Amino acid sequence: MNTWLLKLGELTLKGGNRKTFESVLKRNLLRMLDRPSATNENAAPPDVQAADKAAPVKARVETRNGRFYVHCDDEYAVEQALSHLMGISGWAKTRGLEKTVEAVMAACIEEGKKLRERGISTFKIEARRTDKSFPLDSWGLRSQCGQAVLDAISGLTVDVHKPGGIIQIEIREKAYVYSNAQKGLGGLPVGTAGRGLLLLSGGIDSPVAGFLMANRGMGIDAVHFHAYPYTSLEARQKVIDLAKIVGDYCLGIRLYIIGFTRVQMRIKERSPLPWSTVLLRMAMMECAEKLALKIKSKCLISGESLSQVASQTVENLSCTQSRIKLPVLRPLIGIGKESIIRKAETIGTYETSIQPYEDCCVLFSPPHPVLRGDVSEANALYESLELGPLIDEALGEGESVRC
Ligand code: ATP
Ligand code: MG
Repeated sequence: MNTWLLKLGELTLKGGNRKTFESVLKRNLLRMLDRPSATNENAAPPDVQAADKAAPVKARVETRNGRFYVHCDDEYAVEQALSHLMGISGWAKTRGLEKTVEAVMAACIEEGKKLRERGISTFKIEARRTDKSFPLDSWGLRSQCGQAVLDAISGLTVDVHKPGGIIQIEIREKAYVYSNAQKGLGGLPVGTAGRGLLLLSGGIDSPVAGFLMANRGMGIDAVHFHAYPYTSLEARQKVIDLAKIVGDYCLGIRLYIIGFTRVQMRIKERSPLPWSTVLLRMAMMECAEKLALKIKSKCLISGESLSQVASQTVENLSCTQSRIKLPVLRPLIGIGKESIIRKAETIGTYETSIQPYEDCCVLFSPPHPVLRGDVSEANALYESLELGPLIDEALGEGESVRC
């Protein structure tokens, strides 16, 4: 059976909460291993049969001295889960060795060979000895195992400052040796920071905003507004696909899909064209808040970034949120488009986001939108639209999809 060693991220800082956070992390990992993921479907290697993917993966997770150990036969499933797990700063696949100097040295030489096979020519050894009865201390482990690797493998030299690879030794209840440490997503386990309702468009920004809040430990629900038949079924599917990708990081997302055609038509018919975007945003926020209160989400999350588009000036943001009481979290507010795109690429949403299906916001969008909306004027216009019943109707007719 394979073993993975997990390093906890910020959890080490959280003193009293640590036990709770550890148990949430463990529960999340086991649930992720049981859950068929969007990424699994998209990226499973050809030898993984559909039936195998759907079968729950048998895994055992133990915690000892601040370390998590995962034991499981299904390497692919574990690597998928760990690469999506919030709250770990890193992990490595390894196996428990007999606690003798010979076994540890032999394993270091094995790892040295693997580094060479990957074309790496410099290395260093890092060692930790929790079990003080082991005959070598960490300095002794580094120097003796380092020498053993140098003697056994040609073409590898030591570079302690900028090594091409690091061989790690940990002497605990067993000995562990590995050179394949992977970086984790860090942050906090999903479920330790309440729930938020993400306003999810089909664009680049809002999926990234959802990911960032999940990385702070927040559970995510999502709401999407469409204007069918002005927006297409493909646009709807695109948002479901995005919710699935983000859902892989946060144990799934319940996506609420709400038809806003009548609301948009009312705005178009009764308000000055330059105001239509801001008024639509206000209506979306009002509807999203009603939904959030119903499903017990504690805040709204949006993908707005200051000055990115006309609706995102500080004045227009004030108008947008002026009718609601729940906090609106905007994790991207100070982040530029280039960085957001890079993040979208890393988390795997970018390719889906750039599919060319229209969002309902671009329908009837004015050529010259109001740039610095006045809050009182916005509210007077908004009230004259009498959107309340239309919003309630849209909410009542909405559907929800588990992503
Ligand atoms: P995104 O890339 O997330 O679509 P954007 O840069 O296109 O953002 P806007 O279209 O102004 O910016 O949208 C700002 C935010 O409003 C979005 O990030 C999202 O949170 C929310 N939003 C926009 N359209 C919708 C929609 N159809 N359904 C739900 N939320 C939406
Ligand atoms: Mg958009």
